[in-house]
Amino acid sequence: MKELKVFNQILQIRNFVKDCKKNNFTIGFVPTMGALHDGHLALIKNAQKICDIVVVSIFVNKMQFNDISDFENYPRNLDDDIALLESAQVDALFIPNHAEIYPDLPSFYIIPVNLVDCLCASNRKGHFDGVALVITKLFNIVNPDFSFFGEKDFQQLLVVKKLVEDLNFNTKIIAVPTLRESSGLAMSSRNKRLSYAGRNKAAVIFQILKDIKKNPLTIPLKIAELTASGFDKIDYLEIRNESDLNLNYDINSNQKRRIFIAVYLEGVRLIDNIQL
Ligand code: AMP
Repeated sequence: MKELKVFNQILQIRNFVKDCKKNNFTIGFVPTMGALHDGHLALIKNAQKICDIVVVSIFVNKMQFNDISDFENYPRNLDDDIALLESAQVDALFIPNHAEIYPDLPSFYIIPVNLVDCLCASNRKGHFDGVALVITKLFNIVNPDFSFFGEKDFQQLLVVKKLVEDLNFNTKIIAVPTLRESSGLAMSSRNKRLSYAGRNKAAVIFQILKDIKKNPLTIPLKIAELTASGFDKIDYLEIRNESDLNLNYDINSNQKRRIFIAVYLEGVRLIDNIQL
């Protein structure tokens, strides 16, 4: 079995990548916040298919949480994560510490100005500023040839693609389809915070997306259904263009569109989306 190299310091991972590149190995990068599951593994497997070396990072990025209790309650399980990465034959794990990533008095921020007036940005001020900043830092540190992101966080995927385009990062973004539990529930680290009953109930999210795909006019009905069945709050349930995330309910539209949902159940925020 391959040995998983674990690095905590920026210099260590930089040197590791430098050595790999000297040998002409391509680097695939999978940034995560840990509490790893099969959805993360899908990203890793995609990376292993096209890259010589796969680097995973685990960093619960405080900057992208606008709710401190969400940050504090975010599931963390480093021992299990390391065991999973070892058995997945991952080459290197980077677990930076907060102080090295974020100096006390920063002089720069990276602020997205497009794609961030809707969906997960509306009720989570500054969320994508935090995502863009940490991804910029991680790309500069790891210097990957290919970087893998899940379609489950579709808005994040678009923001990161634009970040790479606009700031000329030398990495190619690869999108990976959403992995689901057998119930249809999109895999997520946050699912670990749901009770057994909550996890069963949450399976209705995917069913609702599929129903709306068949008949987009049922959106108001589905919102009422979700509220009646005990979801705490529906943040959004909308149809938008894949390219620019503009709302688009035009049945004659020739744009690629997606149905996006964010709901709260047992105080846990769950998101999902499917192509229309
Ligand atoms: P996270 O650890 O939640 O920040 O996620 C790290 C990466 O894994 C992001 O690119 C996510 O979009 C991706 N991801 C999370 N859940 C899934 C899933 N169920 N299927 C595919 N990718 C996922």
